[in-house]
Amino acid sequence: MIELRDISKSYGTGSTAVEAIRDVNITIDKGEIFGIIGHSGAGKSTLLRCVNLLERPTTGTVTVGDVELTKLSTTQLQQQRRRIGMIFQHFNLLSMATVRDNIAFPLKLAKLSKGEMKKRVDELLALVGLEQHGNKFPAQLSGGQKQRVGIARALANNPDVLLCDEATSALDPQTTNSILSLLVDINQKLGITILLITHEMHVIRSICDRVAVIDDGGVVEMGDVLEVFLKP
Ligand code: ADP
Ligand code: ADP
Repeated sequence: MIELRDISKSYGTGSTAVEAIRDVNITIDKGEIFGIIGHSGAGKSTLLRCVNLLERPTTGTVTVGDVELTKLSTTQLQQQRRRIGMIFQHFNLLSMATVRDNIAFPLKLAKLSKGEMKKRVDELLALVGLEQHGNKFPAQLSGGQKQRVGIARALANNPDVLLCDEATSALDPQTTNSILSLLVDINQKLGITILLITHEMHVIRSICDRVAVIDDGGVVEMGDVLEVFLKP
């Protein structure tokens, strides 16, 4: 479902260039929950942002579904990005918009009618357990509820893939577990492929099927979670 081939990404040029990731090869199957773990500065965010081309890799190819994203024009890429949802550590909600309007935002961009939009927002609110909170503003919600809004918004256009950028790092342990359960639930119910980055081992252990460990921009270990973490 996601194929990263020989991906490298440098920031800057010449003697000040930083090679944030280099020669990364990862293939993720449909329906998998795949985790990328590494220390701060290892290149996790850069790698994740290369999957939907928020960062354009310096070299290499990115394929999602059967579409090679790295060879698309900007307009074609905008279409394809609807198939890739993303959630963030600090939620990135619109603070002046209600929960319903935050969730409806990608639906407006996809030009749904008012009626279709209302129906879809109702479904999404139910999916993430926020039926009672649609008319609130983000400031009136807990961290876990904000991330539920982020998840609903990311799923609005029925994507095939969900990218999670340290999605539970700003949450307390109990809330973290409830968000991780929701991600598993969504993975099972919708068959969506999940790619997450984290610096927390327990996130990997609790929900991932496979893991890649990255250090200094390169993959140093990859495999089934049990295999990678039970090795002597
Ligand atoms: P992580 O997510 O694992 O903390 P990042 O992908 O954020 O790692 O960063 C990897 C490396 O790339 C770090 O050395 C970081 O300073 C550098 N880096 C990340 N983003 C930029 C940027 N926009 N400009 C320059 N350097 C960057
Ligand atoms: P995270 O912990 O999520 O990786 P960071 O604090 O490393 O977040 O980065 C936040 C933002 O700053 C990102 O957009 C990243 O691309 C950018 N960034 C990170 N390192 C650098 C850097 N050395 N120079 C310029 N921008 C950077």
